[in-house]
Formats: sequence, structure tokens, C-alpha cells
Amino acid sequence: MTFDAATKMQFLFALRSKGVTDARVLTAMEQVDRADYVKGTFADRAYEDMPLPIACGQTISQPSVVGLMTQALQVTARDKVLEVGTGSGYQAAILSKLARRVYTVDRYRRLVQAARDVFEAKDITNITAFTADGSYGFAEQAPFDRILLTAAAEDPPGPLLAQLRVGGIMVLPVGQSDAVQSLIRVTRHETGYEYDELRAVRFVPLLEGLGPE
Ligand code: SAH
Repeated sequence: MTFDAATKMQFLFALRSKGVTDARVLTAMEQVDRADYVKGTFADRAYEDMPLPIACGQTISQPSVVGLMTQALQVTARDKVLEVGTGSGYQAAILSKLARRVYTVDRYRRLVQAARDVFEAKDITNITAFTADGSYGFAEQAPFDRILLTAAAEDPPGPLLAQLRVGGIMVLPVGQSDAVQSLIRVTRHETGYEYDELRAVRFVPLLEGLGPE
């Protein structure tokens, strides 16, 4: 199966039916072939709206959830974005179509390397992928206009709140790892942080330190 016109139409239809209606987000998702980020036995299911296993026991998120999170982030073409949880690199690739510059971090070196290889093969040049514990953000490049977490924390990590620009937006799942989590949006104002609860979600937990590989 390839990401041909008919497959794209179905893929976009499924996204719209789940509430992904932002035209810029849909266009970005049309430009990124999810099959490039799903390897091995599951590659033929890349266009289905479901999470799939990737290396290191992690998962590539469900496309409609990727769409809803990207939409909630309200990315503009001038933005510098930090993503915590590179995983396959799929979400970062979509952000790269909408933002000026994307920094993406994962605790698994192996996932970061695999994602870099795809970005290079696809000529995506505005993403920097690196290995670290993303809970601490990336002080050298702070502040960020937008921050997206694709792993669930119990609370928004303090360093990430601090690295969000005034006027900036952070979207993240919060909650206990095996309970229902909520996707929340944090907007930083001059005077403090505003929190909106968006919907129930389920993500892998944000873990401390580096992964074993
Ligand atoms: N955005 C990814 C899906 C990520 S799955 C995609 O589009 O495919 C969540 C990822 O978060 C996993 O790869 C996991 O290793 C990573 N992760 C968990 N805790 C982390 C931490 N503290 N710092 C960086 N990455 C973390």
C-alpha cells in the first residue's frame, strides 16, 4: 500500500471525522507519509487510525490524536517548537511542515538515530533530534513558542513551564501511566499559566533518565 491519492483521501476523511478540521494541520498530515515512520510487520497498517508498535517497546501515536494535539498547539510559521518524545519521528515531521524550527528529544538513542535517518532521507532540514531526558527541556534554545509532550507526566514538568515563552502554548497528556489521562493545554500569560482540559487520552509514561539503548 502506498500513500497515493485515494489512500490520502481516506486518511484525511478519517482525521476529519475525529475532529481534525484545521486546514493547515490536514495539509501537513497529507505531506507526511506515516509508512516512512512505521517499520517492519506493521508498515502495511500505517494508514489506519490506530497506534502501532515501534522499536524500544514504544508506540507511534494514533493519527487522529497526532492531528488533535497538533491542532491544539496552534503552530505558526515563525514558531520554534520543542517536542518531548520523538518516538518514530512522525509527529516531529508534521510539526516541521508548520513551524520554523523543531527540536525533538527522546530518552532512547536508538529511536533518535532512526528518526534522524528518516528526516535526512526525506530532506527535512528544520528538525534537530537529540537524546536526553526531555523533562528538563532544552535550556540552550529556550524560550520555546510551542512545547508538545507525547508521553504522560503526572504534572507539567517545571523546567518545561519555565522554558515556554510568554504567549506560548504547551500541550501534554497528564495523569498516572495506566489510568485515563487528560490532554491539557497550558497557555503562558504575562501573569501566569492558564490550563484547559481537552480530552481523555492514553500515552506511554514520561520516564526519568536515558533509555537502555
Ligand atoms: N511522538 C512519537 C510518539 C512517542 S511515544 C511519534 O510521533 O512517533 C513516547 C516517547 O516518549 C517514547 O519514544 C519514549 O521513549 C519517550 N519518552 C518517555 N519519557 C521521556 C523523557 N523523559 N524524555 C524524552 N523522551 C521520553
